[in-house]
Amino acid sequence: MKKVFLFFIFLFYITGSFALLPILSPPEGAPPTVILISMDGFRSDYWNRGKTPHFHELIKRGTLADHLKPVFPSVTFTNHYSLVTGLFAENHGIVNNSMWDPVSRKSFEIHNADAAVDQSVWWEGEPVWVTAERQGKRTASMFWVGSSAEINGTRPTYWMPYDQTFPKQKRIEKVLEWLDLPLEKRPQFITLYFEDTDLAGHRYGPDSEEVTQAIKELDDSLGLLVAGLKIRGLQKSTTLILVSDHGMASVKRSDRLLLNDYVKPNEAKVVGSGALVFVWPASKQAELAILKKVDKKPGPFQLLLKEKMPERFHFSKHRRISPFVFLANEGWYWETGLLPSIKPAVFGMHGYDNISPRMQAIFLAVGPNFNENKKVGEVENIDIYSLLAHLLKLRPANTDGSYQRIERVLHLKE
Ligand SMILES: [Zn+2]
Repeated sequence: MKKVFLFFIFLFYITGSFALLPILSPPEGAPPTVILISMDGFRSDYWNRGKTPHFHELIKRGTLADHLKPVFPSVTFTNHYSLVTGLFAENHGIVNNSMWDPVSRKSFEIHNADAAVDQSVWWEGEPVWVTAERQGKRTASMFWVGSSAEINGTRPTYWMPYDQTFPKQKRIEKVLEWLDLPLEKRPQFITLYFEDTDLAGHRYGPDSEEVTQAIKELDDSLGLLVAGLKIRGLQKSTTLILVSDHGMASVKRSDRLLLNDYVKPNEAKVVGSGALVFVWPASKQAELAILKKVDKKPGPFQLLLKEKMPERFHFSKHRRISPFVFLANEGWYWETGLLPSIKPAVFGMHGYDNISPRMQAIFLAVGPNFNENKKVGEVENIDIYSLLAHLLKLRPANTDGSYQRIERVLHLKE
């Protein structure tokens, strides 16, 4: 199979399109397969940036939402985990990329070498791969938030520890390798993750040439995946669902807010930075002192009180949500710590209010259950689990999402 594949990849590079590849007939008894693909930080208006023939072909063959509404806060870990559990942050426990748990008194930091990300205790709810594995279906994860932790005693059958340097082409090859497994070992649900648009968006800003380049590279990668499916005769029986976790807003170095202006180190435990910061006041007195400072020096931010959190954020129930949440207005970001930052400047940020147009993500589905060239309005992140459970014929766990609400994206004949 490998040689045939290489030949077609060669052909694909000459023709520049997978549309010209011959379609082989599907292997006997190929089960319906769903591949959930996330392109981190791919904003809802990124589809028309640069030359992206493969995206356009997929849009022609599938159902495209105007945008996918993220959950609050619009950050990577929270939203990836909502996508696969159908739960709001307050119900799945991954309330931010950086967290502190007042019961275990432990910290969760995605960038630490000794990250807590593999420890089961942080992950609540039931990701769809757990639902599937428990109902006798094999699953595989070419990276996804939560996939390297045992959740409810279960992991995907196939998974890999996260490695940002693992090349895109290798990720595609791994997915295709899993699809080459004998039927009894082959996964029916696969996740695939790319971080490129998020990294470029932070470093250079959402309107940069570098983001356009990252989009083009993702388009190439999707082309390779579709070509690989086509030569295996799996194109018709495979559903591709392309999503992202959140969008991206422009920020400038001059738009930094210094948390130290409002919270002194001895007054509170401070967790996170960027669009939102968690603040756990050390005492009642410290709490009042912080409130007073905010009153005296209002700025381009909101101090959200856990007890008076806007209902639409669904962000008050979990113990890992701090009493005070400092949320920057879009275009601004928090810096924490005493010293001025020595970190490289950022030009893009997310994590803001999840109804902001700049925070909206994407949804595109292509496969036997979806109409060609169909457009739908808003799709909600928390409904994706219900859709996946339906496509994989699973009895779903209880979620905050709704199958009735997302049913309209499916083929009318169903
Ligand atoms: Zn990001």
